[in-house]
Amino acid sequence: MTKIYIDPGHGGKDPGALGYNSIGAQVQEKNIVLPLSQFTRRCLIGKGYNVMISRNEDKYVTLMERVNEANNWGADAFLCVHSNARQSGFVQGFEVETYWMKPNEREYARQIHNHFINGMEIGYLGILQIVDRGLKTENFCVLRETKMISALIEVGFVTDIDDVGWLADEMHQRMIGRILCEAMDKYLNPNE
Ligand SMILES: [Zn+2]
Repeated sequence: MTKIYIDPGHGGKDPGALGYNSIGAQVQEKNIVLPLSQFTRRCLIGKGYNVMISRNEDKYVTLMERVNEANNWGADAFLCVHSNARQSGFVQGFEVETYWMKPNEREYARQIHNHFINGMEIGYLGILQIVDRGLKTENFCVLRETKMISALIEVGFVTDIDDVGWLADEMHQRMIGRILCEAMDKYLNPNE
């Protein structure tokens, strides 16, 4: 059984990126990526994967604790879920970017990224404009220190008021979580 380690970013004392919704309430990245990751996890379990999650509640976990847990468990694939932030400006559309670092995980990250964007375009039927920010490489701890293939996806922008409207809504979290799950499944089980 393929082992997948899902890592919702931040948690506890680390809120991640901060944004504001249309009624001016603060939205924290840690509270968006947790339900997204939980929906992804549930969907992957439904497809027969063995899934572990770095945090299943709002608690602080260091990066090395996440990495060590995945390494010790012997995960086959690691997916880190974040939502982006920008200092200023605004871009129309829901932007997605994905990071990889180790040479053997480039194809994994590329496929997750492409399948996710395709899934979002189909799932949202043109209601939401999806902007492909591309595949990038970065020296992130969760990419560098993991022994298995690992990718970090940035799903939308917490700092964009339109994105937050989607990301903080449970129905959309469920849908985005499922699309992430299907993107992983298409890579891990391409002949299904
Ligand atoms: Zn983050």
